[in-house]
Amino acid sequence: MSKYWSELAKKIEPYVPGEQPKDRKYIKLNTNENPYPPSPRVIDAINRLANESLRLYPDPNCDDLRDTIALYHRLHRSQVFVGNGSDEVLAFAFMAFFDPDKTILFPDITYSFYPVYAELFNLKHRTVPLSDDFDIIAGDYAGENGGIIIANPNAPTAKQIDKEAIIKIIESNLNSVVIIDEAYVDFGGESVIQLINDYPNLLVVQTLSKSRSLAGMRLGFALGHQDLIQALDRIKNSFNSYTLDRLAIGAAVEAFKDEEYFRETCLKVVNTRERISGVLKEMGFKLTDSKANFIFASHPKIKARDLFSGLREKGILVRYFNKPRIDNYLRITIGTDEEMDCMVEALKLLLESNLGDSAK
Ligand code: PMP
Repeated sequence: MSKYWSELAKKIEPYVPGEQPKDRKYIKLNTNENPYPPSPRVIDAINRLANESLRLYPDPNCDDLRDTIALYHRLHRSQVFVGNGSDEVLAFAFMAFFDPDKTILFPDITYSFYPVYAELFNLKHRTVPLSDDFDIIAGDYAGENGGIIIANPNAPTAKQIDKEAIIKIIESNLNSVVIIDEAYVDFGGESVIQLINDYPNLLVVQTLSKSRSLAGMRLGFALGHQDLIQALDRIKNSFNSYTLDRLAIGAAVEAFKDEEYFRETCLKVVNTRERISGVLKEMGFKLTDSKANFIFASHPKIKARDLFSGLREKGILVRYFNKPRIDNYLRITIGTDEEMDCMVEALKLLLESNLGDSAK
């Protein structure tokens, strides 16, 4: 803390991302990255662009990329916004659609950036409890509010809320914007993108960080009625004209064009998730029904915190949240089959030694 800090810098409690360790080589299952590299076409595009035109500013409107995403989702360019990671897109959306005098709603257990943005932009917010089974209850989002944000599938619970329930939430909030954050939807969830043609208050946000293996490039996008997209453009153009660089724009275009590679890698992640979920259940773990590229697991006999530190000592990083209701769960990103097998072996050893200790 310094006397030079603004009141905002003093009061804000920043979001803490998962570790990116440099001290040793870990099996990294802690930040929901894709274990497979991006499409070779993406790498070719980056190499080509790096040799071509970095001297010049990129297109501030990213028209090529907006057109590519619009074509992919059968929409119009005016319904597409792109940004530097979906975190940035979400931040712009909070600024574009939510006002300080009205209370915004989101689940009590969800992506922990939402409360940080609410604080940063001075927005009142109320958290709506998930059910005991970590389900989002649509009826709890009716009534006066200044906006709603829901991650679907939710993080870190990995659970999905179905389309009918989302429609119920949108229809009972026609005077405020409902943001559906679909960061993980490509791993088996059901997207509500096509609903943007019916509901002018729906904004769907997605990312290329997970299903398109581009977390390191920082690419996200939002889809909605053109009036919502215009508001996002107004905020972006008052903040930074060039949020996406030339390499990122070119990489994203190719990532969308290589549909086959995208489907193949998503399927591999889903197959690994299903296999490992079965193995963990046999070991006594309780798991939510994951539609994401991670699982949310708890063991009835051993504390998640102990498993987290035990795995870390064995060179395997997973995510542990020391928060009410979820402090006995681990969020484990789906890695390659080999990585997941190592993780399972390490867990088996930890269970053996812990259960052995408690039996003494
Ligand atoms: N939404 C959710 C629910 C997430 O878990 C994440 C990843 N931390 C993001 C958005 C942001 O992803 P990115 O900024 O990499 O697009």
